[in-house]
Amino acid sequence: MPSVPPLGPALCRLADSFLRQTGRTHSTTAAAAGAAVLTGALLLTTTGSASAQTIAPTTPGSSAFTAPHGAVNAPVLVQVAGPSPYTLPSEQASAQEYVAVAANLLPAQAAVPAPVAEPQPQPEPEPEPAPVEPAPAPAPEPAPEPTPAPAPAPQWSAPVPGAPTSNPYGVRNPHYAAGYHTGVDFAVPQGTPLLAVGNATVVSAGWDGAYGKEVVLRLADGRYAQYAHMSSLSVSAGQRVAAGQQIGRSGNTGNSTGPHLHFEIRSANQYGRVINPIAYLSGHGVTDF
Ligand SMILES: [Zn+2]
Repeated sequence: MPSVPPLGPALCRLADSFLRQTGRTHSTTAAAAGAAVLTGALLLTTTGSASAQTIAPTTPGSSAFTAPHGAVNAPVLVQVAGPSPYTLPSEQASAQEYVAVAANLLPAQAAVPAPVAEPQPQPEPEPEPAPVEPAPAPAPEPAPEPTPAPAPAPQWSAPVPGAPTSNPYGVRNPHYAAGYHTGVDFAVPQGTPLLAVGNATVVSAGWDGAYGKEVVLRLADGRYAQYAHMSSLSVSAGQRVAAGQQIGRSGNTGNSTGPHLHFEIRSANQYGRVINPIAYLSGHGVTDF
């Protein structure tokens, strides 16, 4: 090989290996080709780094045209592209001693595709069950307990709450000018407080003959309430009184046979213009007698 510089036995063997595996003879062309290979190796040797200086030959699986990563202590291999028709020189010769196919020259192997898992059919989502019944409307907030208002002032009252009657209204009696009892008598002891049966204005408060000490009220509905035979008066004419307000005390004054309250309801402030006082009071819810 006159055109190949004496690079040492290893490189000479490289050239020989190249020529053999390419099936060419030691022609000028082949020699030139081998020189090209070796020149590339030489260039790497002379211009590379310390690791590149061991470029030819390189480790099995490496290539003379790819920089090795480390020193090779047994530079005996040549890098060729395979497959190679090269036949070993003898039965005892090792292929590794002469030929190694660079890994970067191996035909690309089709990557075995990783088994792709069969897509599992997604289960159909359960349909939302239709509501059988509409949700019941929330119970309305209970109305707060109304604050108990103070007891309203009574609109009506018995003249003597709880007192029993002793002589009813309307009983025929010739001793009365009208021929009958014009009022109702309540059996109450002397000095019992007497109350206004309704909101009223005091019409008169004073002595009235057979009625003795008397108070007449004009009620809000225009009727009149008369209290007779009283022992004392605590209101005066023109005074406004409220239902349940004390107007005086019971007694035995005037034409009276004993302590009691003679009570009348009149439709007009005249003698005899009377109505049933018990019915009247009962009509206003007063029943405690
Ligand atoms: Zn009477």
